[in-house]
Amino acid sequence: MPGRFEGKVAIITGSSNGIGRETALLFAKEGAQVTVTGRNLERLEKSRQALLDAGISESNFLIVSADITTSSGQDKLIGETLEKFGKLNILVNNAGASIKDPENKTGISQGLDVYEQTMKINVESVIGLTQKTRPHLAKTKGDIVNVSSIVAVKAGWSLLAYYPMAKAALDQYTRSAAIDLISEGIRVNTVNPGIVKTGFHESEFGWSAEEAKKFYDDMGANRSSIPVGFTGRPEHIAKTIAFLADRDSSEYIIGQNIVADGGTTLVLGIHANVLNSLSNS
Ligand code: NDP
Repeated sequence: MPGRFEGKVAIITGSSNGIGRETALLFAKEGAQVTVTGRNLERLEKSRQALLDAGISESNFLIVSADITTSSGQDKLIGETLEKFGKLNILVNNAGASIKDPENKTGISQGLDVYEQTMKINVESVIGLTQKTRPHLAKTKGDIVNVSSIVAVKAGWSLLAYYPMAKAALDQYTRSAAIDLISEGIRVNTVNPGIVKTGFHESEFGWSAEEAKKFYDDMGANRSSIPVGFTGRPEHIAKTIAFLADRDSSEYIIGQNIVADGGTTLVLGIHANVLNSLSNS
């Protein structure tokens, strides 16, 4: 039976690692021709190997090394995809990062340079890629899925200020872009993940792999933080992205945020500190 992405061409940014790599694998297994991209050549090679190990032929994927915060990187990514596959049906704006402060400052003490870099990767790269892919996606009546975060919802983040701001901006951009682009047949939606085991927190806090693993294990074991009782895995988010990218599954969903967080955004601090102790007494 043909996969649901048979005949479709997809660019998945940030697919040299984590959620993006898993999404590229899922899309390719379901028939898509995929462009895998990131800056780090070693990580890109791991993605290439993962696709080959999954039985995906080299003719059905393309690896492009590019920094998508630059206009030339965006042009390279789109140009090489069109050159190899001839069209574009799906853009997954997944690449993102919480930029570590060079002086280890936290909260609103972090410098404007951290703010600017954070906006560049999480928001400006999405604006650039959306504008540049627009004519190609209009031709195919394509789909865009942006990857935001639960940090964008209405809660304060005292440790970090700019990453949540960037993801909130991305959510609002998605709504505006969705109205604008649906008149050309292009759908735009967003997935907002909770905590997912990837390389993200290692980069965010400068942790070792071991420190990150302890964090994910501790969070997963704490139902006041993650009610479902385990930390998210990249495939949870990849499957949600696939649902939003597949027009048969989600045609009538336009400009929405799908939260995939094991219930994290449903619990408040009062559950952890007061109500849980009452329910245990
Ligand atoms: P990873 O750190 O594992 O992967 C991030 C990816 O983004 C990498 O492939 C990296 O590629 C790419 N990337 C970062 N900066 C650039 C750049 N300037 N140009 C090109 N590529 C870039 O993190 P995740 O898989 O977790 O992150 C995926 C998305 O999910 C992000 O948008 C993140 O904000 C979001 N998210 C993650 C959560 C989590 O708990 N993990 C929670 C909520 C949201 P390379 O290093 O090769 O450049």
